Amino acid sequence: MRLDTDPYLQRYATRVRGMAASEIRALFSVVSRPEVVSFAGGMPYTAALDFQAVEDVVVEVIRDHGPTALQYGGGQGLEGLREQLVDVMAYENIAAHTDDLIITVGGQQALELIAKVFINPGDVIVAEGPTYVGALGAFSSHQAEVVHVRMDADGMIPESLAETLERLAADARRAKFVYTVPNHQNPGGVSLSVERRERIAELIEAHDLVVLEDNPYGLLDFEGITWPSFRELIPDRTIYVGTVSKTFAPGARIGWVAAPGPVRNKLTLLREAADLCPSNLTQMIVETWLRRQPWQEQVKRFREVYRERAETMLRSLADEFPEGCTWTDPRGGFYVWVTLPRGIDTSDLLAKAVNKRVAYVPGRGFYADGQGGDQLRLCYSYPTPERIREGVTRLGELLHDELELVRAVYGGDAPDTHGPTRRHDHDSGVAGRGG
Ligand code: PMP
Repeated sequence: MRLDTDPYLQRYATRVRGMAASEIRALFSVVSRPEVVSFAGGMPYTAALDFQAVEDVVVEVIRDHGPTALQYGGGQGLEGLREQLVDVMAYENIAAHTDDLIITVGGQQALELIAKVFINPGDVIVAEGPTYVGALGAFSSHQAEVVHVRMDADGMIPESLAETLERLAADARRAKFVYTVPNHQNPGGVSLSVERRERIAELIEAHDLVVLEDNPYGLLDFEGITWPSFRELIPDRTIYVGTVSKTFAPGARIGWVAAPGPVRNKLTLLREAADLCPSNLTQMIVETWLRRQPWQEQVKRFREVYRERAETMLRSLADEFPEGCTWTDPRGGFYVWVTLPRGIDTSDLLAKAVNKRVAYVPGRGFYADGQGGDQLRLCYSYPTPERIREGVTRLGELLHDELELVRAVYGGDAPDTHGPTRRHDHDSGVAGRGG
Protein backbone atom coordinates (compact mmCIF):
# COMPACT_ATOMS: atom_id res chain seq x y z
CA MET A 1 0.00 0.00 0.00
CA ARG A 2 1.46 3.42 -0.96
CA LEU A 3 1.46 5.91 1.87
CA ASP A 4 0.72 8.94 -0.28
CA THR A 5 -2.63 7.62 -1.50
CA ASP A 6 -5.81 7.27 0.51
CA PRO A 7 -6.44 3.53 1.03
CA TYR A 8 -10.15 4.19 1.53
CA LEU A 9 -10.61 6.06 -1.76
CA GLN A 10 -12.52 3.32 -3.54
CA ARG A 11 -14.95 2.99 -0.64
CA TYR A 12 -16.04 6.63 -0.50
CA ALA A 13 -19.32 7.96 -1.82
CA THR A 14 -18.84 9.85 -5.08
CA ARG A 15 -19.80 13.10 -3.36
CA VAL A 16 -16.60 13.18 -1.31
CA ARG A 17 -14.10 11.75 -3.80
CA GLY A 18 -13.09 15.11 -5.22
CA MET A 19 -12.93 16.84 -1.84
CA ALA A 20 -9.47 17.59 -0.51
CA ALA A 21 -7.94 20.10 1.87
CA SER A 22 -6.61 22.92 -0.29
CA GLU A 23 -3.06 24.18 -0.28
CA ILE A 24 -4.54 27.44 0.97
CA ARG A 25 -5.93 25.76 4.05
CA ALA A 26 -2.50 24.32 4.68
CA LEU A 27 -1.13 27.86 4.70
CA PHE A 28 -3.70 28.94 7.26
CA SER A 29 -1.81 27.16 10.02
CA VAL A 30 0.97 29.69 9.41
CA VAL A 31 -1.49 32.55 9.36
CA SER A 32 -2.42 32.11 13.01
CA ARG A 33 1.14 33.05 14.07
CA PRO A 34 1.04 36.36 15.95
CA GLU A 35 3.59 38.07 13.69
CA VAL A 36 1.33 37.57 10.67
CA VAL A 37 -1.36 40.21 10.09
CA SER A 38 -4.24 38.09 8.93
CA PHE A 39 -6.89 39.53 6.66
CA ALA A 40 -7.85 35.93 5.87
CA GLY A 41 -10.46 34.44 8.20
CA GLY A 42 -13.84 36.21 8.52
CA MET A 43 -13.63 36.42 12.29
CA PRO A 44 -15.81 38.74 14.35
CA TYR A 45 -13.99 40.81 16.97
CA THR A 46 -15.47 38.97 19.94
CA ALA A 47 -13.24 40.96 22.34
CA ALA A 48 -15.70 43.84 21.81
CA LEU A 49 -18.41 41.88 23.66
CA ASP A 50 -19.46 42.97 27.12
CA PHE A 51 -18.03 39.95 28.94
CA GLN A 52 -19.54 40.81 32.30
CA ALA A 53 -22.96 40.73 30.65
CA VAL A 54 -22.15 37.42 28.94
CA GLU A 55 -21.02 35.96 32.25
CA ASP A 56 -24.24 37.10 33.96
CA VAL A 57 -26.26 35.38 31.25
CA VAL A 58 -24.31 32.10 31.43
CA VAL A 59 -24.57 32.04 35.23
CA GLU A 60 -28.31 32.73 35.10
CA VAL A 61 -28.91 29.91 32.61
CA ILE A 62 -27.05 27.33 34.68
CA ARG A 63 -28.31 28.56 38.05
CA ASP A 64 -31.98 28.90 37.12
CA HIS A 65 -32.40 26.35 34.32
CA GLY A 66 -29.52 23.88 34.73
CA PRO A 67 -31.38 20.59 34.16
CA THR A 68 -33.15 21.86 31.01
CA ALA A 69 -30.04 23.61 29.68
CA LEU A 70 -28.10 20.35 29.88
CA GLN A 71 -30.90 18.16 28.50
CA TYR A 72 -31.83 17.19 24.90
CA GLY A 73 -34.29 19.49 23.17
CA GLY A 74 -36.63 19.46 20.17
CA GLY A 75 -35.44 19.38 16.56
CA GLN A 76 -36.98 22.76 15.69
CA GLY A 77 -35.18 24.49 18.56
CA LEU A 78 -36.50 26.16 21.71
CA GLU A 79 -39.62 28.25 21.35
CA GLY A 80 -38.26 30.93 23.70
CA LEU A 81 -35.22 31.47 21.46
CA ARG A 82 -37.36 31.48 18.32
CA GLU A 83 -39.50 34.22 19.92
CA GLN A 84 -36.41 36.34 20.50
CA LEU A 85 -35.13 35.75 16.97
CA VAL A 86 -38.46 36.95 15.58
CA ASP A 87 -37.67 40.23 17.37
CA VAL A 88 -34.17 40.29 15.89
CA MET A 89 -35.71 39.92 12.43
CA ALA A 90 -38.25 42.65 13.23
CA TYR A 91 -35.33 44.95 14.11
CA GLU A 92 -34.40 44.54 10.43
CA ASN A 93 -38.03 45.05 9.37
CA ILE A 94 -38.52 41.40 8.45
CA ALA A 95 -41.77 39.83 9.60
CA ALA A 96 -41.82 36.24 10.87
CA HIS A 97 -43.75 34.05 13.29
CA THR A 98 -42.11 31.82 15.94
CA ASP A 99 -43.42 28.73 14.10
CA ASP A 100 -41.67 29.78 10.86
CA LEU A 101 -38.23 29.31 12.37
CA ILE A 102 -35.97 26.33 12.87
CA ILE A 103 -32.79 26.75 14.92
CA THR A 104 -29.57 25.47 13.36
CA VAL A 105 -25.93 25.12 14.34
CA GLY A 106 -24.93 28.44 12.79
CA GLY A 107 -25.89 29.62 9.35
CA GLN A 108 -23.52 27.03 7.96
CA GLN A 109 -25.65 24.07 9.07
CA ALA A 110 -28.65 25.86 7.63
CA LEU A 111 -26.94 26.05 4.22
CA GLU A 112 -25.92 22.40 4.41
CA LEU A 113 -29.43 21.22 5.37
CA ILE A 114 -31.02 23.33 2.64
CA ALA A 115 -28.56 21.89 0.13
CA LYS A 116 -29.51 18.40 1.33
CA VAL A 117 -33.23 19.08 0.99
CA PHE A 118 -33.01 20.48 -2.54
CA ILE A 119 -29.96 19.25 -4.43
CA ASN A 120 -29.63 16.08 -6.48
CA PRO A 121 -26.27 15.42 -8.16
CA GLY A 122 -25.91 17.66 -11.20
CA ASP A 123 -28.62 20.15 -10.18
CA VAL A 124 -27.96 23.78 -10.96
CA ILE A 125 -27.64 26.43 -8.25
CA VAL A 126 -27.37 30.04 -9.37
CA ALA A 127 -25.20 32.26 -7.17
CA GLU A 128 -23.38 35.56 -7.23
CA GLY A 129 -19.80 35.35 -8.47
CA PRO A 130 -17.83 35.57 -6.26
CA THR A 131 -19.83 33.97 -3.46
CA TYR A 132 -19.48 32.64 0.10
CA VAL A 133 -16.97 29.80 0.11
CA GLY A 134 -18.89 27.87 2.81
CA ALA A 135 -22.00 27.87 0.63
CA LEU A 136 -19.96 26.54 -2.29
CA GLY A 137 -18.72 23.80 0.03
CA ALA A 138 -22.25 22.89 1.11
CA PHE A 139 -23.60 22.90 -2.45
CA SER A 140 -20.67 20.99 -3.93
CA SER A 141 -20.83 18.32 -1.21
CA HIS A 142 -24.23 17.51 -2.76
CA GLN A 143 -22.70 17.62 -6.25
CA ALA A 144 -24.46 20.74 -7.44
CA GLU A 145 -23.33 22.64 -10.50
CA VAL A 146 -22.99 26.26 -9.40
CA VAL A 147 -23.56 28.82 -12.15
CA HIS A 148 -22.37 32.34 -11.34
CA VAL A 149 -24.10 35.63 -12.00
CA ARG A 150 -21.95 38.75 -12.31
CA MET A 151 -21.88 41.45 -9.63
CA ASP A 152 -20.85 45.08 -9.53
CA ALA A 153 -20.83 47.76 -6.83
CA ASP A 154 -24.63 47.38 -6.47
CA GLY A 155 -24.56 43.61 -6.05
CA MET A 156 -25.92 40.93 -8.37
CA ILE A 157 -26.63 42.32 -11.86
CA PRO A 158 -30.27 41.57 -12.80
CA GLU A 159 -29.47 41.48 -16.54
CA SER A 160 -26.81 38.87 -15.88
CA LEU A 161 -29.29 36.85 -13.81
CA ALA A 162 -31.95 37.15 -16.54
CA GLU A 163 -29.45 35.99 -19.17
CA THR A 164 -28.35 33.04 -17.02
CA LEU A 165 -31.94 31.96 -16.33
CA GLU A 166 -32.84 32.21 -20.00
CA ARG A 167 -29.78 30.23 -21.03
CA LEU A 168 -30.70 27.51 -18.53
CA ALA A 169 -34.30 27.51 -19.73
CA ALA A 170 -33.10 27.12 -23.34
CA ASP A 171 -31.28 23.96 -22.18
CA ALA A 172 -34.46 22.79 -20.42
CA ARG A 173 -32.77 23.26 -17.05
CA ARG A 174 -34.04 25.12 -14.04
CA ALA A 175 -32.03 26.18 -11.01
CA LYS A 176 -33.06 24.57 -7.73
CA PHE A 177 -32.60 27.99 -6.13
CA VAL A 178 -30.82 31.31 -6.45
CA TYR A 179 -28.37 31.82 -3.59
CA THR A 180 -27.62 35.38 -2.54
CA VAL A 181 -25.99 37.30 0.31
CA PRO A 182 -27.73 40.60 -0.41
CA ASN A 183 -26.33 42.64 2.50
CA HIS A 184 -22.60 43.44 2.74
CA GLN A 185 -21.75 40.34 0.79
CA ASN A 186 -19.05 37.87 1.67
CA PRO A 187 -16.62 38.15 -0.09
CA GLY A 188 -17.62 41.11 -2.30
CA GLY A 189 -18.28 43.68 0.42
CA VAL A 190 -21.15 45.11 -1.67
CA SER A 191 -24.91 45.30 -1.08
CA LEU A 192 -27.74 44.71 -3.48
CA SER A 193 -29.45 48.00 -4.35
CA VAL A 194 -33.14 48.39 -3.51
CA GLU A 195 -34.22 48.61 -7.18
CA ARG A 196 -32.29 45.47 -8.01
CA ARG A 197 -33.96 43.56 -5.18
CA GLU A 198 -37.32 44.32 -6.75
CA ARG A 199 -36.14 43.40 -10.23
CA ILE A 200 -34.54 40.16 -9.01
CA ALA A 201 -37.69 39.24 -7.06
CA GLU A 202 -39.66 39.68 -10.32
CA LEU A 203 -37.23 37.42 -12.17
CA ILE A 204 -37.49 34.77 -9.45
CA GLU A 205 -41.28 34.83 -9.81
CA ALA A 206 -41.25 34.92 -13.59
CA HIS A 207 -39.00 31.82 -13.68
CA ASP A 208 -40.91 30.08 -10.90
CA LEU A 209 -37.84 29.80 -8.65
CA VAL A 210 -37.02 30.12 -4.97
CA VAL A 211 -34.33 32.29 -3.44
CA LEU A 212 -31.97 31.34 -0.62
CA GLU A 213 -31.37 34.61 1.21
CA ASP A 214 -28.34 34.39 3.50
CA ASN A 215 -28.16 37.37 5.82
CA PRO A 216 -25.39 37.27 8.44
CA TYR A 217 -24.36 40.92 8.03
CA GLY A 218 -27.65 42.81 7.62
CA LEU A 219 -27.47 44.42 11.07
CA LEU A 220 -23.88 45.51 10.55
CA ASP A 221 -24.58 48.41 8.19
CA PHE A 222 -22.26 51.25 9.24
CA GLU A 223 -25.11 53.77 9.07
CA GLY A 224 -27.60 51.44 10.71
CA ILE A 225 -29.64 51.28 7.49
CA THR A 226 -31.85 48.23 7.02
CA TRP A 227 -32.36 46.91 3.51
CA PRO A 228 -35.54 45.30 2.17
CA SER A 229 -35.47 41.54 2.43
CA PHE A 230 -36.56 39.00 -0.19
CA ARG A 231 -38.61 37.47 2.62
CA GLU A 232 -40.65 40.66 2.57
CA LEU A 233 -40.81 40.90 -1.21
CA ILE A 234 -41.58 37.24 -2.08
CA PRO A 235 -42.20 35.36 1.20
CA ASP A 236 -43.49 32.13 -0.39
CA ARG A 237 -40.40 31.87 -2.53
CA THR A 238 -37.81 32.78 0.09
CA ILE A 239 -35.78 30.57 2.37
CA TYR A 240 -34.15 32.96 4.81
CA VAL A 241 -31.01 32.15 6.80
CA GLY A 242 -29.90 34.14 9.85
CA THR A 243 -27.15 33.73 12.44
CA VAL A 244 -26.05 35.32 15.70
CA SER A 245 -22.39 34.73 14.77
CA LYS A 246 -21.75 38.30 13.67
CA THR A 247 -24.06 40.14 16.08
CA PHE A 248 -23.31 38.10 19.21
CA ALA A 249 -20.73 35.32 18.96
CA PRO A 250 -19.86 32.55 16.50
CA GLY A 251 -18.89 30.33 19.43
CA ALA A 252 -22.58 30.04 20.33
CA ARG A 253 -23.14 28.25 16.97
CA ILE A 254 -26.71 29.49 16.72
CA GLY A 255 -28.32 30.23 13.38
CA TRP A 256 -31.80 29.82 11.99
CA VAL A 257 -33.92 29.30 8.91
CA ALA A 258 -37.25 30.98 8.25
CA ALA A 259 -38.96 28.95 5.55
CA PRO A 260 -42.42 28.00 4.28
CA GLY A 261 -43.97 25.15 6.34
CA PRO A 262 -43.34 22.18 4.02
CA VAL A 263 -39.67 23.11 3.57
CA ARG A 264 -39.28 23.63 7.31
CA ASN A 265 -40.65 20.16 7.99
CA LYS A 266 -38.11 18.55 5.66
CA LEU A 267 -35.32 20.59 7.23
CA THR A 268 -36.35 19.47 10.71
CA LEU A 269 -36.36 15.80 9.66
CA LEU A 270 -32.89 16.09 8.13
CA ARG A 271 -31.52 17.95 11.12
CA GLU A 272 -32.82 15.26 13.44
CA ALA A 273 -30.91 12.74 11.31
CA ALA A 274 -27.78 14.89 11.49
CA ASP A 275 -27.55 15.98 15.13
CA LEU A 276 -30.95 15.31 16.78
CA CYS A 277 -31.30 18.86 18.11
CA PRO A 278 -29.35 22.06 18.64
CA SER A 279 -27.63 22.57 22.00
CA ASN A 280 -30.10 23.64 24.68
CA LEU A 281 -27.24 25.25 26.56
CA THR A 282 -26.20 27.69 23.85
CA GLN A 283 -29.80 28.24 22.76
CA MET A 284 -30.69 29.30 26.31
CA ILE A 285 -27.61 31.50 26.56
CA VAL A 286 -28.54 33.29 23.34
CA GLU A 287 -32.22 33.49 24.35
CA THR A 288 -31.32 35.01 27.72
CA TRP A 289 -28.80 37.36 26.08
CA LEU A 290 -31.48 38.63 23.71
CA ARG A 291 -34.18 38.80 26.40
CA ARG A 292 -32.19 40.41 29.23
CA GLN A 293 -29.33 42.36 27.70
CA PRO A 294 -29.45 45.49 25.54
CA TRP A 295 -28.23 43.50 22.53
CA GLN A 296 -29.02 46.34 20.17
CA GLU A 297 -26.36 48.39 21.97
CA GLN A 298 -23.88 45.56 21.46
CA VAL A 299 -24.71 45.50 17.75
CA LYS A 300 -24.07 49.27 17.59
CA ARG A 301 -20.71 48.76 19.30
CA PHE A 302 -19.73 46.09 16.76
CA ARG A 303 -20.83 48.41 13.93
CA GLU A 304 -18.59 51.19 15.25
CA VAL A 305 -15.60 48.87 15.62
CA TYR A 306 -16.04 47.54 12.06
CA ARG A 307 -16.70 50.95 10.60
CA GLU A 308 -13.44 52.31 11.99
CA ARG A 309 -11.56 49.26 10.72
CA ALA A 310 -13.14 49.49 7.26
CA GLU A 311 -12.23 53.19 7.04
CA THR A 312 -8.67 52.44 8.12
CA MET A 313 -8.36 49.70 5.55
CA LEU A 314 -9.78 51.80 2.71
CA ARG A 315 -7.48 54.72 3.56
CA SER A 316 -4.45 52.41 3.75
CA LEU A 317 -5.34 50.75 0.44
CA ALA A 318 -5.54 54.16 -1.24
CA ASP A 319 -2.15 55.11 0.26
CA GLU A 320 -0.26 51.87 -0.21
CA PHE A 321 -1.61 49.82 -3.13
CA PRO A 322 -0.12 50.30 -6.61
CA GLU A 323 -1.99 52.02 -9.40
CA GLY A 324 -4.27 49.69 -11.33
CA CYS A 325 -5.57 47.85 -8.25
CA THR A 326 -9.28 48.33 -7.59
CA TRP A 327 -11.41 47.43 -4.59
CA THR A 328 -14.96 47.61 -3.33
CA ASP A 329 -16.25 50.19 -0.87
CA PRO A 330 -18.10 48.34 1.93
CA ARG A 331 -20.94 50.07 3.75
CA GLY A 332 -21.09 47.36 6.37
CA GLY A 333 -19.93 43.83 7.10
CA PHE A 334 -16.37 42.52 7.14
CA TYR A 335 -14.88 42.48 3.65
CA VAL A 336 -13.10 44.36 0.89
CA TRP A 337 -12.76 42.61 -2.47
CA VAL A 338 -9.65 43.55 -4.43
CA THR A 339 -8.91 43.12 -8.15
CA LEU A 340 -5.27 43.37 -9.23
CA PRO A 341 -3.81 44.48 -12.55
CA ARG A 342 -3.01 41.80 -15.15
CA GLY A 343 -0.12 39.48 -14.51
CA ILE A 344 -0.39 38.61 -10.81
CA ASP A 345 -1.91 35.34 -9.68
CA THR A 346 -3.22 35.73 -6.13
CA SER A 347 -3.04 31.97 -5.39
CA ASP A 348 0.67 31.98 -6.27
CA LEU A 349 1.26 35.22 -4.40
CA LEU A 350 -0.09 34.00 -1.06
CA ALA A 351 3.05 32.17 0.04
CA LYS A 352 5.12 35.31 -0.61
CA ALA A 353 2.58 37.39 1.32
CA VAL A 354 2.72 35.06 4.30
CA ASN A 355 6.48 35.26 4.10
CA LYS A 356 6.07 39.02 4.41
CA ARG A 357 3.81 38.40 7.41
CA VAL A 358 0.46 39.28 5.89
CA ALA A 359 -2.35 36.98 4.74
CA TYR A 360 -5.48 37.19 2.62
CA VAL A 361 -7.74 34.71 0.85
CA PRO A 362 -7.06 34.25 -2.89
CA GLY A 363 -10.03 34.89 -5.14
CA ARG A 364 -10.36 31.46 -6.75
CA GLY A 365 -11.93 29.87 -3.67
CA PHE A 366 -14.98 32.08 -4.06
CA TYR A 367 -15.94 30.82 -7.50
CA ALA A 368 -17.10 27.31 -8.38
CA ASP A 369 -15.34 27.44 -11.76
CA GLY A 370 -11.90 28.64 -10.66
CA GLN A 371 -12.16 32.25 -11.87
CA GLY A 372 -10.78 34.97 -9.65
CA GLY A 373 -7.03 34.37 -9.98
CA ASP A 374 -6.49 38.13 -10.12
CA GLN A 375 -8.67 38.80 -7.08
CA LEU A 376 -8.42 38.49 -3.31
CA ARG A 377 -10.50 39.02 -0.19
CA LEU A 378 -9.37 41.18 2.69
CA CYS A 379 -11.22 40.90 5.99
CA TYR A 380 -10.83 43.89 8.32
CA SER A 381 -13.03 42.79 11.22
CA TYR A 382 -10.39 41.20 13.44
CA PRO A 383 -7.06 43.10 13.32
CA THR A 384 -6.80 46.42 15.16
CA PRO A 385 -6.54 49.59 13.03
CA GLU A 386 -2.80 49.74 13.69
CA ARG A 387 -2.31 46.16 12.51
CA ILE A 388 -4.50 46.87 9.49
CA ARG A 389 -2.20 49.72 8.45
CA GLU A 390 0.82 47.50 8.97
CA GLY A 391 -0.67 44.61 6.99
CA VAL A 392 -1.82 46.75 4.07
CA THR A 393 1.61 48.41 3.91
CA ARG A 394 3.30 44.97 3.73
CA LEU A 395 0.93 43.76 1.04
CA GLY A 396 1.28 47.03 -0.88
CA GLU A 397 5.08 46.68 -0.91
CA LEU A 398 4.80 43.12 -2.17
CA LEU A 399 2.41 44.18 -4.94
CA HIS A 400 4.70 47.02 -6.03
CA ASP A 401 7.60 44.54 -6.29
CA GLU A 402 5.50 41.95 -8.13
CA LEU A 403 4.16 44.45 -10.64
CA GLU A 404 7.65 45.66 -11.36
CA LEU A 405 8.62 42.08 -12.06
CA VAL A 406 5.56 41.55 -14.27
CA ARG A 407 6.44 44.68 -16.26
CA ALA A 408 10.06 43.59 -16.63
CA VAL A 409 9.07 40.14 -17.87
CA TYR A 410 6.01 40.86 -19.98
CA GLY A 411 6.21 44.53 -20.85
CA GLY A 412 2.69 45.70 -21.66
CA ASP A 413 1.50 42.19 -22.45
CA ALA A 414 1.01 40.58 -19.05
CA PRO A 415 -1.15 37.43 -18.94
CA ASP A 416 -4.76 37.58 -17.85
CA THR A 417 -4.93 35.73 -14.54
CA HIS A 418 -8.68 36.02 -13.98
CA GLY A 419 -9.70 32.83 -15.77
CA PRO A 420 -9.65 29.30 -14.35
CA THR A 421 -6.17 28.47 -15.67
CA ARG A 422 -3.22 29.01 -13.35
CA ARG A 423 -0.57 31.33 -14.76
CA HIS A 424 2.17 28.70 -14.99
CA ASP A 425 -0.19 26.42 -16.92
CA HIS A 426 0.09 28.71 -19.93
CA ASP A 427 3.28 30.49 -19.04
CA SER A 428 5.49 29.29 -21.87
CA GLY A 429 3.43 30.74 -24.70
CA VAL A 430 3.03 34.13 -23.06
CA ALA A 431 6.66 34.34 -21.97
CA GLY A 432 7.67 33.56 -25.56
CA ARG A 433 5.68 36.53 -26.80
CA GLY A 434 6.45 38.91 -23.97
CA GLY A 435 10.15 38.12 -23.86
N1 PMP B 1 -23.11 32.82 5.35
C1 PMP B 1 -22.17 33.74 5.13
C2 PMP B 1 -22.30 34.63 3.95
C3 PMP B 1 -21.08 33.88 6.00
O1 PMP B 1 -20.17 34.83 5.76
C4 PMP B 1 -20.99 33.01 7.11
C5 PMP B 1 -19.82 33.08 8.06
N2 PMP B 1 -18.62 33.44 7.56
C6 PMP B 1 -22.01 32.06 7.28
C7 PMP B 1 -23.05 32.00 6.39
C8 PMP B 1 -22.02 31.04 8.40
O2 PMP B 1 -21.71 31.50 9.63
P1 PMP B 1 -22.14 30.74 10.94
O3 PMP B 1 -22.20 29.29 10.64
O4 PMP B 1 -21.08 31.09 11.94
O5 PMP B 1 -23.47 31.28 11.31
